[in-house]
Amino acid sequence: MNITVCNPLLRTPLSLIVDDSCPVVNLTYYWIHQRHAWKARHQPNIPPERWEGNATQLKSIPPTIPSDFAYEWAEWCWENGVKGKFSLIPYPAGVGRIDEGFPEFSTREYQAWLRIYRELIWPSFDLTPEMLTHTAVVDLDTFSLTEEWEQVEWVDPPVDNRLTDYIITAMEMLDNVGIPCEGVTSPGAFGKRQEAAYAKAVLTASQHVNNNPRPFYFLWLKHDELPDVPIWYPEKEAGIAIASIVSCAGDWFGGWTGYDLGDADRFITEDLQGGRLPPILEKELPCVLVGHWPGFYFNGEKSGFDILKTVKARLDNYDPDGTKTLWMKNSEIGHYYMARELTEIIVLPVGAVSNRTEQIRLSTQFPTANFTLALDTPIRHVQVNGWDLREVHSRRDFQRDTFLIEGKQTFIAFDLEVGETKLALIVA
Ligand SMILES: [Zn+2]
Repeated sequence: MNITVCNPLLRTPLSLIVDDSCPVVNLTYYWIHQRHAWKARHQPNIPPERWEGNATQLKSIPPTIPSDFAYEWAEWCWENGVKGKFSLIPYPAGVGRIDEGFPEFSTREYQAWLRIYRELIWPSFDLTPEMLTHTAVVDLDTFSLTEEWEQVEWVDPPVDNRLTDYIITAMEMLDNVGIPCEGVTSPGAFGKRQEAAYAKAVLTASQHVNNNPRPFYFLWLKHDELPDVPIWYPEKEAGIAIASIVSCAGDWFGGWTGYDLGDADRFITEDLQGGRLPPILEKELPCVLVGHWPGFYFNGEKSGFDILKTVKARLDNYDPDGTKTLWMKNSEIGHYYMARELTEIIVLPVGAVSNRTEQIRLSTQFPTANFTLALDTPIRHVQVNGWDLREVHSRRDFQRDTFLIEGKQTFIAFDLEVGETKLALIVA
């Protein structure tokens, strides 16, 4: 019997990454101010490049994004089943610490923001730090901002303990407000030239701060190749590994600046044929979309949010009965791919139990929801650890703890737990 691990519930993972989000502060406003001030100090004769932001736009960019908008956005995502990852920059632009508050802004807003993060966003999105400030590198001894930038000089960060300590500090600040993060986000290309050391540092920090041995990081947005979920530093027996969540599409909602509007067609066109996503959906590879928080808000016009609504409506049209795609958090995608790669699957010889019963043993330290197997033979009866699974007759009804026969194939879905899982199958 041939066994393969399929996508969860035979559906292609979808996930929305939101970067540059933080309570109260509109990161873009401070980012451009600070970058241009840095330019004036260090490169007075070189005008800012496009990636450094446009100073003439600053008067239209507000220094804050109101909690009302976060509420509206998060409620919409909840109601529409959108899941993914949402950044929580713990010391945004050095303006204030998430675990101390933002003295220049209203305490009410800060508290409302924290409530929305915890109660409305967290159920559907992993919350991660995006390093400490998303602008200048912090001197951890004095907690002052240095002249180096997280996403410029620290694209090639120090690979000694300083990098791990930096990530530990970011994670601890979230933990101080009751949020044990599932992973981290790179501000810009932070860590890109030292990815192996960066992945190791995130894994070490995650185990140290949150006792989480299976975190993820988001660093790559790739438009020129098919997406994958690389797993680094797997320790099969110990259940330790870290996933790199790679995005395949973005930044086409509102752009990080909040003044460069994107276009839903770049994700998926109205006829569902064009754009970046359809060929990836066709190959059933994980579609991780990227947007930036100031871009959804779009200086109060919410134009990037409107694009998200259009993209979601088109993805719903692509999958009207919910059998082709599945919205997942980044951490859920990471855990699924760990289980897929690091679970031992052994088919016992026929007759080991009885003539009609086949036995499969799975052994893993990498638990995941909706683990889905395909067997190349029709099965009449399936038990997982002694429990009968229910047979269903359509992909729409195919959920965890069910099995589905299509032609000569049988699909089985269940939550994979740590340790041994025994499948007993009666062949049709
Ligand atoms: Zn960012």
